[in-house]
Amino acid sequence: MIALVSMASPSWGALSGGRLDPQALLAATMLLRDATDVTLLAHINPDADALGSALALGQVLRRRGATVRVSFGWPRVAPSALAALDTDGLLVTADEVPATPATLVVMDTGSVERLGPLGDRVAATIEAGGQVLVIDHHATNTYFGTHNLVDATAEATAVLALRLIDELGEVLTEPVARCLYAGLLTDTGAFRRATPSTHLIAARLVEAGVDTQAVSRELMDSHPFGWLGMLAKVLDGAVLEPAGARGLGWVWTTVSREQARGLGIEEIDSVIDLVRTTREAEVAAVLKEIEPGEWAVSLRAVARVDVGSVALGLGGGGHRLAAGFTAVGEPEDIIPRLRAALDAAPLLR
Ligand code: 5GP
Ligand code: MN
Repeated sequence: MIALVSMASPSWGALSGGRLDPQALLAATMLLRDATDVTLLAHINPDADALGSALALGQVLRRRGATVRVSFGWPRVAPSALAALDTDGLLVTADEVPATPATLVVMDTGSVERLGPLGDRVAATIEAGGQVLVIDHHATNTYFGTHNLVDATAEATAVLALRLIDELGEVLTEPVARCLYAGLLTDTGAFRRATPSTHLIAARLVEAGVDTQAVSRELMDSHPFGWLGMLAKVLDGAVLEPAGARGLGWVWTTVSREQARGLGIEEIDSVIDLVRTTREAEVAAVLKEIEPGEWAVSLRAVARVDVGSVALGLGGGGHRLAAGFTAVGEPEDIIPRLRAALDAAPLLR
């Protein structure tokens, strides 16, 4: 306990690997220190890292006296487990976001397109003389802000948000720590991908009072009963192609709107985490029908295939081992395209 307390203000240079550009960090800190009206945006279909980071930073800025709102372009409301992180009531719907925000902070979002219908706020803010701060850890980030705090070596955007909170000299309260923990937990695959610094940061968050068991259960281990029936059908339809993905094997399945009826996005997004455990496959893919004839594709690799490049080539993006894209058509069209892209995918080592 004593060691953890003395760790409350760690040396970030040692912790973060020091990959953040000091000037970008200083500029971002100054921007947030002086901002009086801040709109924080997460990417469409926000996850715990995007929304948790936005809510954490939003809570801190609200405490400093700023007017703060947090939003995302789609869907209309956040999954309940994520909405529960909003203890200060900062969330607003996309149509409540001002046309020209004074200061815009865009979190965990690699490109303007990933903001969906709120993407136009970036240009609108800049044209009106406002500032846009991009805080992200995607290697594919396009640096679309006036300020860009991007570190592709960061395990989660939550780590960058915590860094800014420290730079602002703000105390880490439990609700803020909970939001950050949610992002760190989910983006590291429940600490499967973690460095010493990941655990040191997690220790700080737990020290601040986060109930780790409750957060894990709510975010990762809790689904309605109907989830089991959907999984039974979707997993039964999985296809293993051992010779695919450059001979390393890949496995795929689809989740139709019919199969997903009545279930939340978090239930549908959980399928990839089961499919990707297939031992015979380096790559896993799940096609999720979002509109008739429109599919969001989740890609995961174990270690060797760069699915980030594959996704980028198919109009999406993401990380080397976790990426995605949206495709128009039906699985009969999309799967051959994906199969061909995986057969030509760059190998990581
Ligand atoms: P997921 O499969 O969990 O939806 O996404 C995995 C990763 O790929 C995330 O980091 C996410 O940001 C990225 N990603 C997923 N879909 C898209 C997409 O359509 N476009 C881009 N640029 N990135 C995506
Ligand atoms: Mn993230």
